[in-house]
Amino acid sequence: MWLVRPLPLDGESLYSILFRLSLGNDISTQDACSVLLGAKQGRDLDKLSPFCALSISEAAELTEEQAIALTCYRWNRLITPNMPATRHSLDWLPALPSRKGEVLPLAYPRCPLCLEEGTIPYARINHRLAFVTCCPKHKVFLVSKCHACGNHLTFPNEQPFLCVACGKDQRDYLETAPQAFIEAQENLLSILERGWTENEHYGAQYSFVFFRLLMWLCRMLTSKSWGKTLRQAIRSVGGPQSNVEENTLWHRGNERIYQLSPLERAKLLSTALWLWGDWPRRFIDVCRSVNLFSHTILSYGRNPPFLLLDPVREALLKPFYAFSRAEVNSAKKYLHKRGRRVTLSELQTLTGNKLHAWSNEGYAGRVCIPYGEGRYWKLDGINNQVRASVKVQAHIEGLKTAQWVERALQQALQKNCR
Ligand SMILES: [Zn+2]
Ligand SMILES: [Zn+2]
Repeated sequence: MWLVRPLPLDGESLYSILFRLSLGNDISTQDACSVLLGAKQGRDLDKLSPFCALSISEAAELTEEQAIALTCYRWNRLITPNMPATRHSLDWLPALPSRKGEVLPLAYPRCPLCLEEGTIPYARINHRLAFVTCCPKHKVFLVSKCHACGNHLTFPNEQPFLCVACGKDQRDYLETAPQAFIEAQENLLSILERGWTENEHYGAQYSFVFFRLLMWLCRMLTSKSWGKTLRQAIRSVGGPQSNVEENTLWHRGNERIYQLSPLERAKLLSTALWLWGDWPRRFIDVCRSVNLFSHTILSYGRNPPFLLLDPVREALLKPFYAFSRAEVNSAKKYLHKRGRRVTLSELQTLTGNKLHAWSNEGYAGRVCIPYGEGRYWKLDGINNQVRASVKVQAHIEGLKTAQWVERALQQALQKNCR
């Protein structure tokens, strides 16, 4: 059935081979996928189980080992102890952007200069790893979104360095990657291929334990509540500087890291690797300096690796403190005696605790802005449901609430005049 069978190129991914297979045989990728895998397969082909990879490899005339080397399974037991056949995001292996059940044109990170050099543009399997941020050959950061319009860049495309949506050439926007970032990346790749790494304090460690710890540190450094404080503390003791872009803050967990630009991700990795540099001494010092203790550190994921659990238990143990009824009552009395209102926020400030268990106690109401002086003063005295729907309606029509109310009043008056 397959007249054209593409040979795998250096470091090519299975996804990319399937695209070239369907392109060469002039059928849609969706159809090629259905023929080879059946209709119900998950669509992230690089994360398919080796069994499924085999049916594609037969079509492309590859051996079993070759087929597995083209998928993320080459890192099974290296980056994660057991790789599930899933299209969802794993640690360091983000999911590809997708629409429901469809095979998407490949939205891979790429180096526009590598693509320009080769006769056949293809996607590299290494670029699936979230810690791969730059091209060691051309010393530039990888590109996955158009610099001008933010659209995902896709394969197959005759000129894959051009954006399909706006036509801008991505080679005009290339950012040079510093040598330090390239070396750090090469070092991580070699740990992954070797399967182990070493630490002065803990000795030899499996690579998947190290990568889980690295992800944990990155999650801590990008978290909404503690990230900024931690990064500032690291900077103040001479560590590297990293930022988190505002538009990634609404993402959760690993996704926040995957959404960062390659430059910011490389900076984040260098900060995490700085902590690893003298593990666990630097980590303990930084956490202590900002009063970050066990219950918060261990809340950044499930199954903390021993490499993290051990220093946290040893040096950063501080169990969660729950306030008792008597303590809350005496805090209330204290506020009352000093003539302050007994509100939840006053109690929280006084005790330095969020008092979750005591938040439904019935406290004094908050102090409101006087009548006619609030932000939505034109709606004062109007019932809450009407206020809410006016705000929504004004937002839909792109007006300020006051403008919308004024217009509605004018329309009503005009009707009455007629
Ligand atoms: Zn390159
Ligand atoms: Zn564009």
